[in-house]
Amino acid sequence: MRMSERGLLLVVSGPSGSGKTTVLTRLMQDRDDVFFSVSSTTRTPRPGERDGTDYNFVCAEKFEEELDAGHFLEWAEFAGNLYGTPAAPVLEAINLGKVVILDIEVRGALQVKEKYPDAVLIYLWTGSFEELERRLRRRGTEREEVLRRRLEIAMEEYKAIGEYKYKVLNYEVEEACRALNSIIVAERCLIK
Ligand code: 5GP
Repeated sequence: MRMSERGLLLVVSGPSGSGKTTVLTRLMQDRDDVFFSVSSTTRTPRPGERDGTDYNFVCAEKFEEELDAGHFLEWAEFAGNLYGTPAAPVLEAINLGKVVILDIEVRGALQVKEKYPDAVLIYLWTGSFEELERRLRRRGTEREEVLRRRLEIAMEEYKAIGEYKYKVLNYEVEEACRALNSIIVAERCLIK
């Protein structure tokens, strides 16, 4: 990374099952200037998820405590659980010129846009709700009612797509990564 380059705040949203985690993990393997923000959540870990790497898994009391102390850049309730972005590491990474990535849902993304108008909002999309449902079922990590609820949320969230600057289709991981890399290059070349 060239030190003259300024930091970028990328906010990536997309429905549960859109392949966000896979695409963002690949992007991080490809680049050495990315800082991925680890959120705090009250959700229980899925098999294979690691505390401190995928999320900071906390109880509701601890989450409320951090919220009251003003530690979150944004936060939201999603499908019965609380999620929040710790502010300090994000701001520090931006100051270091990093590409900071927040993988957050729509209401959180809008809070970030309000606070940081320079934040670049990107929506990762499967192309259709039918494809989204297929992927969620293939993943098989949610019970039927939870899966239904996540699909409903996805339909609701999609209405806010006009608030986003870019829509990236995720038919294929490499292609989606190429699009994200192009966005990073373009945003860094913007004249402000
Ligand atoms: P999951 O439970 O599938 O990991 O995440 C559910 C949703 O919460 C996803 O849309 C994810 O992007 C979002 N999310 C994860 N962390 C945060 C956060 O810190 N803030 C907000 N607002 N949403 C988050």
